[in-house]
Amino acid sequence: MVRKYLLLTPGPLTTSEEVKNAMDFDYCTWDDDYKKITQSFRHSLLEIAKVTADEYTAVPIQGSGTYGVESVIGSTISKNDKLLIAINGAYGRRISEMADIYGINHVDCVFDEREPVTLNRVNECLAKHPDITHFAMIHCETTTGILNPIEEIIPKIKERGIKTIVDAMSSFGGIPIDVKAEKIDYLISSSNKCIQGVPGFSFVIAKKSELESTKGLARTLSLDLYDQYAEMEKNHGKWRFTSPTHVVHAFYEALQELKAEGGVEARHQRYSANQKHLAAGMEELGFKVLIDEKWQSPIITSFIYPSDDFDFHKFYQQLKADGFVIYPGKISQVPTFRIGNIGEVYDNDISKLLDAIKTIVK
Ligand SMILES: *Cc1c(COP(=O)(O)O)cnc(C)c1O
Repeated sequence: MVRKYLLLTPGPLTTSEEVKNAMDFDYCTWDDDYKKITQSFRHSLLEIAKVTADEYTAVPIQGSGTYGVESVIGSTISKNDKLLIAINGAYGRRISEMADIYGINHVDCVFDEREPVTLNRVNECLAKHPDITHFAMIHCETTTGILNPIEEIIPKIKERGIKTIVDAMSSFGGIPIDVKAEKIDYLISSSNKCIQGVPGFSFVIAKKSELESTKGLARTLSLDLYDQYAEMEKNHGKWRFTSPTHVVHAFYEALQELKAEGGVEARHQRYSANQKHLAAGMEELGFKVLIDEKWQSPIITSFIYPSDDFDFHKFYQQLKADGFVIYPGKISQVPTFRIGNIGEVYDNDISKLLDAIKTIVK
């Protein structure tokens, strides 16, 4: 048996007892009660996205978050289209890799990983490539914890008639996003991030008029977003293939808890308070944050190694023994490690974490 610890990674994350308990039963996958649960959570996702079912739909896809991103990239962009990808971290690069594999025409607009994506640079890329039909960017780049300003960029891109794709994997449910006002055609997130469920599926909030024009574009069977949507609509919440039944029940419970907490705004406040407490406490202990406060997300924080001989592995093991699991860094320019503060994590947990770190670095 693994010793229990608090997960301070940005998904999977620490979930509540009730979420875990919701999985303690072997549910049927095609039964009407189950389909109702699927329809209900699809509806809740639209509410969180601040959109209505006449214009938008929520479509779950089995697998981790990447499967959801791949279902959008691989099944909504045709061979005559051209995709512009704004990249300032590993998840932006992942979309570029997908486009390579599917042979999708694409242009990468690459930024320094410590800087946010800007409308100016995106416009420069568009000026050089006027035939762009689709644009993709990441909201919270979990690679560093930087928060890209989608609300400044996406509406402007959409005004030019370009279809817009946002990977909001690590922010949706934890940071308010108005999908309609921000003119997002496809937003992707997953069960195990800010909704605080367990890993097992991703979901896409899609503008129906866009999604309905993509029938037949899919390059794979299982990641065909249109087909999954069509089946769910026709059969009132039926997934095309075996669905992660336990995960769906845990997710349903997690959505009730999000509501009980006071919705996305309340959760956003808790996460922001956690992050501020964490960053201030760490700076007091001599750790510098990587990302400028202006762009720092309330989700995950990158800290620069305090000295050249800092032994991350040892630090990690000591913290794990104290009941906290953190995350290694992921960028090349500067050695960093990361601490997430989403999930069932409260102010008191951050205080205990800082006490544990204080004892280790003393
Ligand atoms: C977590 C995450 C993903 C998906 O990762 P999976 O390991 O496939 O769940 C994609 N984009 C971002 C920004 C993420 O944080």
